[in-house]
Amino acid sequence: MSDSGDLRVPHVALLPSAGMGHLTPFLRLAALLASHDVCVTFIAPNPTVSLAESQSLSNFLMAFPQITRKQLHLLPLDESCANSEDPFYYHFELIRRSSHLLSPLLSSLSPPLSAMITDMSFTSTVLPITDSLGLPNYIFFTSSAKMLTLYVSFHTMLGPNHTIKDDLQVPGLGPIPKSRMPPPLLQESNNLLKTFFIENGKKMTESSGILVNTYESIESETLAALNEGRVLRKLPSVISIGPLAPCFFETSQQLQWLNDQATGSVLYVSFGSRTAMSREQIRELGDGLVRSGCRFLWAVKDKKVDIEDDEKLTEVLGEELLERVKKNGLAVKNWLNQEEILSHPAIGGFLSHCGWNSLSEALWNGVRVLAWPQHGDQKVNADLVERIGLGTWDKSWGWGDRETVVKAEDIAQTVSEIMGNDLLKLQALHIRDEARRAVGDDGSSTKSLAALIDTWKKFQ
Ligand code: UDP
Ligand code: UDP
Repeated sequence: MSDSGDLRVPHVALLPSAGMGHLTPFLRLAALLASHDVCVTFIAPNPTVSLAESQSLSNFLMAFPQITRKQLHLLPLDESCANSEDPFYYHFELIRRSSHLLSPLLSSLSPPLSAMITDMSFTSTVLPITDSLGLPNYIFFTSSAKMLTLYVSFHTMLGPNHTIKDDLQVPGLGPIPKSRMPPPLLQESNNLLKTFFIENGKKMTESSGILVNTYESIESETLAALNEGRVLRKLPSVISIGPLAPCFFETSQQLQWLNDQATGSVLYVSFGSRTAMSREQIRELGDGLVRSGCRFLWAVKDKKVDIEDDEKLTEVLGEELLERVKKNGLAVKNWLNQEEILSHPAIGGFLSHCGWNSLSEALWNGVRVLAWPQHGDQKVNADLVERIGLGTWDKSWGWGDRETVVKAEDIAQTVSEIMGNDLLKLQALHIRDEARRAVGDDGSSTKSLAALIDTWKKFQ
């Protein structure tokens, strides 16, 4: 791979967005780059929204002392955004409005930077800064390539009253129906998510490249459409570098209950780091899990932000349900290291909201998925679960409990079907092998990353 002109050690700065769904893939990418002898500076917006983010970051930096941390101290925001519908989107905006602080930070780094890797949510605010410094800036898109087609196209689909009329159609690809798009994008009024899609999506064309945590065998057609100009004519290279392998830097959790369960017998139930259901839906879910007769490990989340999630399990589930749960499952309210759970031999299925990192961890570990998308990109991702044969998706369940409360009987039946589906179990194992091949020695993602690092080595 190397030639005589590439002796320079590249120095790359990474800037993640708010929430574990953005931080985790950035940390994995940082570790991967460090393992390829790239000098990495990690720019951490401070403060974070959740405790999970600050703990994960500090554990990571302890485990990788060769990675330099710089803090981006966020400015307080005016009232106009303070009432945002989502504390994580509010934080995206906070980081966007603090972006000007990056210029002195980036130019003070030594050795000088070869490139910057920026979360997609800051494309429109950070690109002008890196441009003025003459610094190549790569956008890291932390969802699927299919979702990227919507991200870069959305601004071209807007009608006169700022709404969209049609599904997204890309020649040669299955459509993204309006009903699968994040609901705030379909509103007439402006909201933070819509603004991010419009402003960042437009500006992506000016970046040096777009990195995606996906790989050829699951999204080959989508990647080809993006790179052949079928989605947007002037898009820079879209580079698949995934699935980013988990890196173990947290101390191992001791879940004796899981160790005591039979191989492949347990359904893991989690809706990610920032999705809370209504109490009513939580209780129907608990009832359904019990009625399914399957073993289950359930991460119960009652509030979006972990530091506010302080009610005890007995209050959230009620004593009677909690007692029933204990007969064939384990419910927890504390943070579990999900990657460690999914790699445990007792886990045989995953009831997931289809956050992209959760899916990438499921396919990495060859675990069947029962998709229950709740918001954002999750229906687009759930479609991929079905398409590649990783799992099933009951579309009548809708967008979580905002549309309808799914009843315990339905949940029980669907859970027992997936846990009894041996074909899916085999398919998931096959997907795991392909995922690992993509990042193995001669894998497609490994080659793309090596080529990218070579480009940085030559940047003067
Ligand atoms: N996660 C975890 N423990 C939890 C909940 C989430 O370790 O109890 C991790 C999960 O493994 C994933 C990330 O947090 O890496 C969540 O990202 P994802 O894209 O799946 O969903 P989001 O939380 O952004 O909705
Ligand atoms: N594919 C893609 N994006 C899509 C649909 C398909 O990248 O929206 C790719 C993916 O790599 C898949 C291949 O195209 O393996 C064929 O997809 P199809 O849905 O036809 O499924 P298959 O033939 O694998 O059953």
